[in-house]
Amino acid sequence: MPSDCVFCAIAAGDLPADVVYSDDDVVAFKDRGPQAPVHVLVIPRTHVADIGAAAADPSVAAALLAGIAQTATALQLRDYRVVFNTGAGAGQTVFHVHAHVLAGRALKWPPG
Ligand code: 5GP
Ligand code: ZN
Repeated sequence: MPSDCVFCAIAAGDLPADVVYSDDDVVAFKDRGPQAPVHVLVIPRTHVADIGAAAADPSVAAALLAGIAQTATALQLRDYRVVFNTGAGAGQTVFHVHAHVLAGRALKWPPG
């Protein structure tokens, strides 16, 4: 795991986070800068940089998708949005793949 990855540190329990769901493969925790009443990040415990790298490891990709659904169930979300910012030009700032799970307010389409 990269020593400078903040999400690896959260997954390892070395950096505090408000964890809402976790299992052997994923951790879900509240975003520190919430953009909706519910704003949770779901990450694989395995360090992969982005969605392309996750897709290259099917076990990670499957665990991440399942983790999103399990997080939604744990939070009793019925309607929610899942966002993967991919690449700096799309707003990715942390290069450990993460799904933003947003809920609790009206979510417009198309997104900004
Ligand atoms: P990105 O911009 O890469 O799609 O999303 C990164 C997200 O991680 C941002 O929404 C940011 O608020 C959140 N974030 C960055 N560092 C931390 C941290 O140390 N703790 C928590 N809880 N969220 C973080
Ligand atoms: Zn990492």
